Amino acid sequence: MIRVAHLYPDYLNIYADRGNIAVLDRRAAWRGLTLEVTPLGVGAPLTSEYDLVYVGGGQDREQALIAPDLASRAEPLAELVRTGAAVLAVCGGYQLLGRGYRDVAGEDLPGAGVFPLVTVAGERRMIGDVLLECELDAGEKRTVAGFENHAGRTVLDDTAEPLGRVVAGFGNDGESGYEGCRVGNAVGTYLHGPLLPRNPWLADWLLMRAVEHRTGERPVFDALPDELERAAHAVSADRARARGGRF
Ligand code: GLN
Repeated sequence: MIRVAHLYPDYLNIYADRGNIAVLDRRAAWRGLTLEVTPLGVGAPLTSEYDLVYVGGGQDREQALIAPDLASRAEPLAELVRTGAAVLAVCGGYQLLGRGYRDVAGEDLPGAGVFPLVTVAGERRMIGDVLLECELDAGEKRTVAGFENHAGRTVLDDTAEPLGRVVAGFGNDGESGYEGCRVGNAVGTYLHGPLLPRNPWLADWLLMRAVEHRTGERPVFDALPDELERAAHAVSADRARARGGRF
């Protein structure tokens, strides 16, 4: 059994980000594991019982509604990350797991401080297919393909580790050449899509760490056929390559 906390599913679910949970659920089931997903709204307790925390994307309006509650969870979130729980945060959720987000209206939204970064909205939105090259484990190069649509420019602290290098697309700010952020087993990214159906290796990466958080031992998963997933990844990656670089 893997316990998943799904934060603010009623507010942060843009571009069907909830599909990421469906992927985690199926891939866990194919390995004989059960995912117990608990939707957590404003005020619901985030205990140390969870192995994986998921936060989807949302526009400024939705973000403003939940930002104070999310920021008030800084401690339990830090504790979960410290103890090796997996986290996946997408776009609006990613921004609010940084130190804060100044939205398009100039409003400062507080962040939970899981990721060492800040985000400020710019005038031009960064929209389109994205291709990244990642190396979450030394020596294991992987690609991530997805779709981005954000006004926020995210700037990582000098010491922060990005999720990946931008091969095509804008990424964190359209300038740095990096996308997302990674702290331990916590991953934040702008990529929607949803993200996991076309990047199943990342779903398995998160699931393995969630199982390790529960049992103390990292499992080795058998490979799945993944033909459709590979085809979806290829389509997305080709679109990103055709789109080319940044601004
Ligand atoms: N409101 C944020 C931005 O535009 C996040 C948008 C999103 O989640 N797609 O930067």
